[in-house]
Amino acid sequence: MLRDVTVSEVGPRDGLQMVRKVVPTADKRRLISALHAAGLPEIEVASFVPPKLVPQMADAAEVTRFAAALPGLHVAVLVPNLRGAEAAVAAGAHKITLTLSVSEAHSQANLRRSRTEQMEEARAVTTWLRSLPPDARPRLEAGLSTAFGCSLQGEVPEAEVVGMAVELARMGCDSVGLSDTAGYANPAQLRRLLRLVRAEIGQACDSLHLHDTMGLGMANVTVGVEEGIRIFDGALGGLGGCPFAPGASGNIVTEDLVFLLESLGLRTGIDLDALLAARAILAEALPGEPLHGAYARAGRPTGWRAAA
Ligand code: ZN
Repeated sequence: MLRDVTVSEVGPRDGLQMVRKVVPTADKRRLISALHAAGLPEIEVASFVPPKLVPQMADAAEVTRFAAALPGLHVAVLVPNLRGAEAAVAAGAHKITLTLSVSEAHSQANLRRSRTEQMEEARAVTTWLRSLPPDARPRLEAGLSTAFGCSLQGEVPEAEVVGMAVELARMGCDSVGLSDTAGYANPAQLRRLLRLVRAEIGQACDSLHLHDTMGLGMANVTVGVEEGIRIFDGALGGLGGCPFAPGASGNIVTEDLVFLLESLGLRTGIDLDALLAARAILAEALPGEPLHGAYARAGRPTGWRAAA
């Protein structure tokens, strides 16, 4: 399948981590299979965190092993530390996103570590990964949380985002992604910060993880596209959020993200009808959980066609 842009579905991780009901492993498998069938090239299927803290992710290894067996699927997972990275590699993950917060307050709340301590953890992860044979080594992305502002501490200085991105790229992370954990980014800010970071580390800054708290998610995607970003996270039905970023709302809606990208002439390889079928499975697994999204509500505009 020809693709101009990669949509990475983070619903099974970012989406479900905010849902109180622990979704049975069988339902997660059905959901991941349906997303794979819809053409999602990459799915973030779990986070490798202590099950005592996040019971929803107790089956992370099992879910990762299942997803890694689906043909052609790039399986991504989130990890907070070296221990999580080791478990993720053992389960067969293809991409590991190590999360680091630019906001000191969010770092303490979410990771119970200072930024400096988490940078040391990143160093431990890169060192360990280098010790693996190349064919057993997953891609390592550093995910910079709260890059555009933090609901705990407020403003996050851009120089601190740039500084961490430079250090992580030097350390040997394959890529650095910018995450708008709180959903505070606006298009002008997004353009400015992307240019600042990319002036230092170039294409190594290659992905955006956006939330829709202020309703600017799709406007931010458009600017990301204009700036040359070709990897975007989204969550089916716009689920998601961070338990340690009070006030943040869900991720940008995958269905609407695909609709926007295809409308801009960028092929995603994703079938929107099949995506709605996956959404129906999600709705069934989470009765009472509100799902968001304009495309699902309005349907395909008359005469609309996907990118050719
Ligand atoms: Zn998120």
